[in-house]
Amino acid sequence: MDLLYNSTRGGDQDVTASRAILAGLASDGGLYMPDHIPALDLSFDQIRDLAYADLAYEILRRFFTDFTEEELKSCIRKAYDAKFDTPVIAPLVKQDDAYYLELFHGPTIAFKDMALQVLPHLLATAAKKQQAEEKIVILTATSGDTGKAAMEGFADVPGTEIIVFYPKDGVSPVQERQMVTQTGANTHVAAIRGNFDDAQSAVKKLFRDEALISEMKEAGLIFSSANSINIGRLVPQIVYYVYAYAQMMQSGAIEAGEEINVAVPTGNFGNILAAYFAKQMGLPVAKLICASNQNRVLTDFFEGGTYDKNRPFYLSSSPSMDILISSNLERLLYLAADLDTELVASLMRDLQTKGRYEMPASMREKLSDFLGMCADEDAVSSEICRLYQASGYVIDPHTAVASAVLGRYKEETGDQTKTVIASTASPYKFARAVLHAIDAVQFDAHDDYTQFADLAAVSSVPWPKAVKKLAEAEVRHDLLIDPEMMRDTVRRILKLA
Ligand SMILES: *Cc1c(COP(=O)(O)O)cnc(C)c1O
Repeated sequence: MDLLYNSTRGGDQDVTASRAILAGLASDGGLYMPDHIPALDLSFDQIRDLAYADLAYEILRRFFTDFTEEELKSCIRKAYDAKFDTPVIAPLVKQDDAYYLELFHGPTIAFKDMALQVLPHLLATAAKKQQAEEKIVILTATSGDTGKAAMEGFADVPGTEIIVFYPKDGVSPVQERQMVTQTGANTHVAAIRGNFDDAQSAVKKLFRDEALISEMKEAGLIFSSANSINIGRLVPQIVYYVYAYAQMMQSGAIEAGEEINVAVPTGNFGNILAAYFAKQMGLPVAKLICASNQNRVLTDFFEGGTYDKNRPFYLSSSPSMDILISSNLERLLYLAADLDTELVASLMRDLQTKGRYEMPASMREKLSDFLGMCADEDAVSSEICRLYQASGYVIDPHTAVASAVLGRYKEETGDQTKTVIASTASPYKFARAVLHAIDAVQFDAHDDYTQFADLAAVSSVPWPKAVKKLAEAEVRHDLLIDPEMMRDTVRRILKLA
């Protein structure tokens, strides 16, 4: 049966997967959602034995029904290959009573690679299927990891240009270095004076800028999005939750059919939403623990049913989660509202105009599988240190947010359900914060590159190749602009001005 996509705000209806992937955002500003969530009608025995690529095919084909088998398999083959440093792709590591799902073995050593290695191929295939003559322009706001992972995925992919905006003071030195040294003739990067939400809001506005869009059309250009609002990113993220479950069956950690919990360090709400999709497909997941850092807008949302972005914005040691507007939450609202697009549209209008909205009680009941908890900077730092001392295993600050939250959750509830923690970045990506947590006196004075060696010396986690090359890489991008200049910058890069 064909699966079609609808906007969460009631505009575009019955859109094919390839059109939804190509468009990114729906034309009314809503997000594309499948008209139903397909069942994962495979036996536990089958799931247990599938390789990552084969499982990816089983998930993707249920959502992207207008792609042929050959098209999907070709996209998957190009994505999950030797660019990952392990053939397992997403290994599950048990440490001190939790199961860390390592999603950082791709080329940019963070979990965005899991989807952004495959998205460019899905997008190029979708363009071919839709007979789009235009060149695809990817426009992305990033809080650090998305932009780099997107550029790495799109670099020199024919028929594409990619433009990335990041908050100048909102990313780690290594993240910034990764971005400004990006190669590829079609990659463009600009830092903005502002935070991630400034960048994201401006990008969203550009996507709906009629004048700009028609100017581009004349020049043979069309926008698309690599942000986690693209359904072509969300679906590939479902795969690793099912894969984690398969690995737990394989190791005997769980019986087939036994329920697990997941704990996900959350920012834009894409990763944890993928876990919820996995549950809706039939994966035995009990609780979804939504872990936030000091920017606890989601914690308050799940506790009290009100989303309120009118609050101070903190820069934390987990910058990819320093977010006040979690875009993908709109998809969960749509499900919780029983697909009532009017209701979703009105909540989103409230968010736009008042910066807050309140959920009706009927919606709150639908969200009882979710639990929002947060960890402040001290808790994150203590958790990195605690786990290191207990096991020698080193985690990055994003993962530590979830790990700290899980510890507190277990203490408070006594829930003994085995729990998968989405481990979203390599500790090398945030070496300074990690080493500071382990031993500030010894390491704080060392420069960024010495710290990689420090981390390699104290931990059993090997030094990733991607980081080794960074020190000598050439800086190719040095643009710094105000958010108001983003439109002009885009026009200049695209040679419209
Ligand atoms: C993007 C990111 C997150 C947050 O994921 P969302 O899907 O935006 O919730 C967490 N950790 C790291 C390292 C990330 O790059």
